[in-house]
Amino acid sequence: MRTLIKGGTILTTENEFVADVLVDGEKIAAVGTGFPEDGVDKVIDAKGKYVMPGGIDQHVHYSFVYKGSKVRGFETTNACAVGGTTTVIEFVNQVKGKGLIESLEEYNKTDAEGIAMVDYAFHPVMTDPRPEVIEEIPKLAEAGYPTMKLFMAYKGQFFHADDEAIINALIKGKETGITVMVHAENGDMVDFLTKKLIAEGKTGAYYHCVSRPPIVEGEATSRAIYLAEMAGAPIYIVHVTCKEALQAIKEAQQKGLPVYGETCAHYLLFDESVLALPNEEGAKFVCSPALRPKEHQEVLWEALREGWLNAVSSDHCGFDWEYQKHLGMGEGCSFADIPNGAPSVQNRMNAIWTYGVCEGKISKQKFVEIMSYNPARNNGLTSKGCVAAGFDADIVVFDPDYEGVMGVESCLEGVDYSVYEGMKQKGRPETVLLRGKVIVEDAKYVGEKGDGKFIPGAPYCKAYENM
Ligand SMILES: [Zn+2]
Repeated sequence: MRTLIKGGTILTTENEFVADVLVDGEKIAAVGTGFPEDGVDKVIDAKGKYVMPGGIDQHVHYSFVYKGSKVRGFETTNACAVGGTTTVIEFVNQVKGKGLIESLEEYNKTDAEGIAMVDYAFHPVMTDPRPEVIEEIPKLAEAGYPTMKLFMAYKGQFFHADDEAIINALIKGKETGITVMVHAENGDMVDFLTKKLIAEGKTGAYYHCVSRPPIVEGEATSRAIYLAEMAGAPIYIVHVTCKEALQAIKEAQQKGLPVYGETCAHYLLFDESVLALPNEEGAKFVCSPALRPKEHQEVLWEALREGWLNAVSSDHCGFDWEYQKHLGMGEGCSFADIPNGAPSVQNRMNAIWTYGVCEGKISKQKFVEIMSYNPARNNGLTSKGCVAAGFDADIVVFDPDYEGVMGVESCLEGVDYSVYEGMKQKGRPETVLLRGKVIVEDAKYVGEKGDGKFIPGAPYCKAYENM
């Protein structure tokens, strides 16, 4: 199957130019002009549209289970497709008593393979750092998992990691080029503040942000960086939200340390005031780290422009609002019982385009870099994230003139709310190709279950590039 995308403006991390894209099978065969149309099966007119690489969302949760309830899974990944995201990277918890690779392979068989509608990769989450599991870490590289994550937060939960586990992961991971990622919040500080607030009767959703203020994240971020420095290993800080954490990251980068980080769309677009919304709406915005006072947002945009943070993810996590309210707002419940996470995989790109690019906070080139190109490099997805010959034909034809409103009605995430409800949207993906196959046409999903496949990542990703 050969497809010709004609006359669009190609967006790269460096520039933009009008050209045609010739797709042959699953790959981009050439970018240029004057390609003959004979032998081409399909022509897509992209005049007046942008042609950019499919989004890569390096931080999603399709397998998270909380108090027996599981988030919406890979059966809702058509939401990614219509939002222009063609690859997601899912965090998979190691199952107690099982190895890292075994846990991932089982999860893939039961929950992703044959179901996913966009391509995917995995970050193993080490939850059980026994000696055999530490010894298994170097083997992740060959199995196609070049990253792994540990949770510094959530003291008392099975997935909480202490400093010893992180040190071991950093040292063992370095042997074969594994990038260690951390959720950086001080679990003890959060635990202390949570108990104190509940004892004082401060149990509403708003107190979620009071229980985990910026210093909690600043402390853990700087500690994680010191642990990595001691181990002589790179480190990647997921969902950075505040000045305090950024300060630690900037200082480390100025010292020449291989320290990298991302932020998420909701930290750029919402502040903590939404946690106090009436009628239990605050529960919709309970995610960790918590939303911050408004002054942190401008600093996060600056961090993206300056390269201190190199990606914007969704941290997508599809629990129903009904369920969040039920667990967190009943008799004897508190903010600490509300399942964490906000669904936003569908509108990650639309929201950052509308409120980032259209409002002049970032350039179109930066958009491509943080939404697609860097996430591919961070995770060893060497065939993804660029509209150029030889890359996978994961392509978004983006209509910049569309105007609409985001909300649950147009959302395929399968969740009963959208954090972006009622917010205006400028531009949208009109046509989306996944490895050469059109999966979105006229902004409607037209693909099939199982179109997406597992893409193994190569080790020694971006975090190792200057080592
Ligand atoms: Zn997350």
